[in-house]
Amino acid sequence: MTDDDSQAPLPGPAGEPDYPDLAERIADLRPRSRPLAAAEHPFRHVQARRFTQLVFNIPAYQRLLLDDFARDRGELILRDLRTPRDFAALPERVIVNCTGIGARTLLGDDSLTPIRGQTARLVPQPAVDYAVIYRGRNVLALPRRDGLLVAAMGEHDFGNADLRPDHEHSAAAVRRLAALFDGNV
Ligand SMILES: Cc1cc2nc3c(=O)[nH]c(=O)nc-3n(C[C@H](O)[C@H](O)[C@H](O)COP(=O)(O)OP(=O)(O)OC[C@H]3O[C@@H](n4cnc5c(N)ncnc54)[C@H](O)[C@@H]3O)c2cc1C
Repeated sequence: MTDDDSQAPLPGPAGEPDYPDLAERIADLRPRSRPLAAAEHPFRHVQARRFTQLVFNIPAYQRLLLDDFARDRGELILRDLRTPRDFAALPERVIVNCTGIGARTLLGDDSLTPIRGQTARLVPQPAVDYAVIYRGRNVLALPRRDGLLVAAMGEHDFGNADLRPDHEHSAAAVRRLAALFDGNV
């Protein structure tokens, strides 16, 4: 979904690399989007396109994975690894290190870049059976069964490791989303 010309897009993350655009090469792998006429969508003053995409219902999927893991006698042990030497203290002979962005500190892996973003969860709204990507306004809304997820991106997200929630950033994203429906974009 894109703004009409009356509103300048909000700046995307500053400092982010100029990734190559490979979309053309996988154009035949993804469902094609199609433009919607104004009468076909509930939004005001924007051009909307529709496409289909697979989305996981993360909490249910996570439960399924954990249940499978437990059924196969997997065991969860919480441990804080402070230096690579701590790997040696593990009794297992094979270790798969998947500490995510934590590997940046644990292993000094500066190739990992934190990217900040905010998520807010609104009450579940079963009637909403579509996601919204509001291009140029840094908002994404996903209708998960346990709540409508509103993700907000911002100019200072790239390379930002600050884990503190920013409620105002989320609230502003919800307001931008609401304005889509009442026309005050
Ligand atoms: C808010 C948010 C929403 C997202 N939504 C989606 C989505 O809808 N769909 C999607 O596909 N992806 C989503 N993602 C991205 C997805 O969560 C990540 O890509 C994925 O979790 C990365 O998996 P990982 O196993 O590499 O790392 P992580 O999931 O980060 O796992 C790393 C683990 O290592 C542990 N760890 C780190 N350092 C240490 C240490 N020193 N000692 C011990 N343990 C340590 C951490 O506690 C953590 O449990 C989202 C991410 C965020 C932040």
